[in-house]
Amino acid sequence: MTFEKFSQYFEKLDATTKRLELIDILSKLFKESKSGEVGNICYLIQGRVAPFFEPIEIGMAEKMVAEAIGKSYGKSKEDVLKLYRKKGNMGLAAQELSNKKHGTLRLRSGQARDTKLSVNEVFAKLLEIAKFAGEGTVEKKVSTLANILTKLDPTSVKHVVNIPLGTLRLGIGDPTVMDALSLAKTGKKDLRPVIEDAYNKTSDLGYVAETFWAKGEKGLENVHLVVGKPVRPALAERLPSAEEVIKRVGNEFAAEPKFDGFRVQVHLNREGFLGPVIARNSKNDEAILEDRSPRGVYTEFVERARGDKELSQVKIFSRNLENMTHSFPDLAEGVLKEVKAKSAILEGEAIAYNPLTSEFLPFQETTKRRRKYKIEEKAKELPLVMFAFDVLFLDGKDITQKPYSERRKLLEKILPAGRQISSSQTIRLAEEKILTNSKQILEFFNESISEGLEGIMIKKLDSPYKAGGRGFHWIKFKRAQSGELSDTVDCVLLGIYAGKGKRTEFGVGGLLVGVYDKKKDEFVTISRVGTGLTDEEFRKVNEIGKKLKLGKKPARVNSKVEPSYWVEPKVVLEIYADEITRSPMYTAGWDPDTGSGFALRFPRLVKFREEDKRPEDATTVQEIEKMYKLQYKKK
Ligand code: ATP
Repeated sequence: MTFEKFSQYFEKLDATTKRLELIDILSKLFKESKSGEVGNICYLIQGRVAPFFEPIEIGMAEKMVAEAIGKSYGKSKEDVLKLYRKKGNMGLAAQELSNKKHGTLRLRSGQARDTKLSVNEVFAKLLEIAKFAGEGTVEKKVSTLANILTKLDPTSVKHVVNIPLGTLRLGIGDPTVMDALSLAKTGKKDLRPVIEDAYNKTSDLGYVAETFWAKGEKGLENVHLVVGKPVRPALAERLPSAEEVIKRVGNEFAAEPKFDGFRVQVHLNREGFLGPVIARNSKNDEAILEDRSPRGVYTEFVERARGDKELSQVKIFSRNLENMTHSFPDLAEGVLKEVKAKSAILEGEAIAYNPLTSEFLPFQETTKRRRKYKIEEKAKELPLVMFAFDVLFLDGKDITQKPYSERRKLLEKILPAGRQISSSQTIRLAEEKILTNSKQILEFFNESISEGLEGIMIKKLDSPYKAGGRGFHWIKFKRAQSGELSDTVDCVLLGIYAGKGKRTEFGVGGLLVGVYDKKKDEFVTISRVGTGLTDEEFRKVNEIGKKLKLGKKPARVNSKVEPSYWVEPKVVLEIYADEITRSPMYTAGWDPDTGSGFALRFPRLVKFREEDKRPEDATTVQEIEKMYKLQYKKK
């Protein structure tokens, strides 16, 4: 497919915010593409040249892109920036210059361009830009982008420049892409669950789309976990009482402490990972050392941070599947030394401790380890231990279908046990108790709370690992805070209300927040939050607002209220509320019969979750509905 054709689809996708239309347009786009193209198209519509979990960014600032545009159309960088300010969008500025140039060319030669770049050619060039590193990077990036622009039509130019800037905001969610893939291949959306299953195992939409396009449903059945590609995490359900738990999990079940750190998924491959090898120098610049990927184009990645050989055998992903290996060299080293396996995918919770007193530190301290700079310093100050609670892949085999009790036995074989902190053991087995009744649940719960933990996790013994699913195979039993709701709600920031009075100074008076409707793949509103924010947090929201501000309501947002301005749904905020009520203002769980949706009463900000949750990881409407019912059961 030519990029010109592809960009016409971009135009159509940009013009609608209706999900059904998006699916329809995307499915037509897929129908026109070949295998070998479909995967790259999936990455490009997300504004990327690799799956989201890979640390590959094209990384060009406005000035660099302006310089490239200037180079293509014989203008200075300053002229381009001036036009950009006038138009408010770099794509529109580039399009205008391109239009002028092509108009002149047409007049002169009677034709526009003689070269038509294909989608794959543009993809490969953008990837090349992402890989440049070291001396002369800026010049190389600018001239390669300029070269692409010269060979493209004005509409393509408009969209392409937004990719390196990271401002391509089509707002298309992965479920929408999966619906469209199914529709394109079979005329129906029925295969979405099969596609989603493969996606949950690998998190790589491009790879899944390619497999589906080339080999159909059968091909997807053969998609298994791949060491190096993050698995979408299994999630826990909530229940109001120990009795309800027993009803769900039976008379014998496992219980574990609920550690209050951050979730990590560790991938170990002692043979080293396939793919391009990155090295970072002390300034954190990246350079591709060698490319071992089978397709030549992007497949997998190896990190070799600052030349440490061991890191090319370990990858560590966060809760939102971001590759964080570089930030946790102590964990990576621990995995390599202590895990008795050739290859494995383990899950656990990482917690920081005080190296002098050997005491665990609260979440606020642990989270300071999620950083990109001065890593070594922080690792000494706040060393981490990981309590492993599951194993999904072991010595070459995907073991997610084995029952939990068997997976746990395997985990016990490859890890040392014990809760004592010592600097010689970084990776530990999470403590587990096999319980049989509700009294024991409450005893273990109280014991854990008195130790300062958040609560306990109950696990069904015969359950497989459910990648990407929230289910009753895991039940979280948490300490209730004051008020009625025993759990917080993870909301997505959708819009900002301007500030009045003292808050004028912050530029923010309130936040319009929503939750995720998984079935419809859209964000629905649930509350306006104006309390619980410190002055610093108000300023932070203002900064986020400036970065993510949109001129119109974003695609996939369903709202009846209008904030002062909309923002791209990207940032997740943990909100605590007294109660879930119904209100005609909000669209979460909208019931046309009563003309009302769910709302949060007395909402206040607990913390920003932008680092470990993607917007689609926010609380879902389906969960809100359950929490709404649960609060009455408790009374
Ligand atoms: P989510 O369920 O979406 O992850 P959350 O991040 O707000 O929500 P909770 O729902 O409160 O967290 O609890 C689930 C999380 O608890 C897991 O994602 C994991 O990080 C953590 N956790 C701590 N101890 C355990 C354990 N023993 N087994 C499983 N998860 C645990």
